[in-house]
Amino acid sequence: MSVADNLEEIKQRIQQACKNCERNDEKITIIGVTKYVSIDRAREALEAGVNNLGENRREGFLEKHEAIGEEAIWHFIGSLQSRKVKEIINKVDYMHSLDRKSLAKEIQKRADKQVPCFVQVNVSGEDSKHGLDPSNVEDFIHSLKEYDRIKVVGLMTMAPHIDNEEELRAVFRKLRALRDIIRDQKLVHAPCKWLSMGMSNDYQLAIEEGATHIRVGTSLVGS
Ligand SMILES: *Cc1c(COP(=O)(O)O)cnc(C)c1O
Repeated sequence: MSVADNLEEIKQRIQQACKNCERNDEKITIIGVTKYVSIDRAREALEAGVNNLGENRREGFLEKHEAIGEEAIWHFIGSLQSRKVKEIINKVDYMHSLDRKSLAKEIQKRADKQVPCFVQVNVSGEDSKHGLDPSNVEDFIHSLKEYDRIKVVGLMTMAPHIDNEEELRAVFRKLRALRDIIRDQKLVHAPCKWLSMGMSNDYQLAIEEGATHIRVGTSLVGS
């Protein structure tokens, strides 16, 4: 399937999800996750109109960024070792995986300008997942105040690989509730308006629960 055909289908589903919860579908950003696919396929996504591209590994990010460059808006969505920050941070438009102080410190040290960041939260509590425990998110975000190279634009989570709709919704709802608490504090360094949640399997549910950014790989570009 061409990316354009897949995108058409995804857009229809987004529209449907937005209808279900009376949201405006123009407010949903589709991040095309290209980690499984070639540079050519990533270019095809861009040509189909997916301007936001996401990679979860440093090597893949650098490779695609080098080939495609500033035409795309670049999202880094994977875990990153602090000592690798310097290699990518000035090529990243949005960082989705800020989850610890050491990473924040390194971004502060290496970034040439302010980086919009999502704070990653491990809502489901699975050991295999990165991200902060929900109970630590508020303190963590407050502690970023001194870092003028970091702007907390939202929260991000990865839902568990399950089919149970109610359990998935509960994860998304919890992230949204946390987002609401922080957003309502109107912190200058952390407007925290956005929610990066929802992947190929669950983006419609995530949208119904408030996602503003969905990260779609398999169902958009293939695997
Ligand atoms: C791989 C990945 C995605 C996309 O997953 P699909 O199921 O292929 O849509 C989204 N977010 C993160 C953090 C990922 O690593």
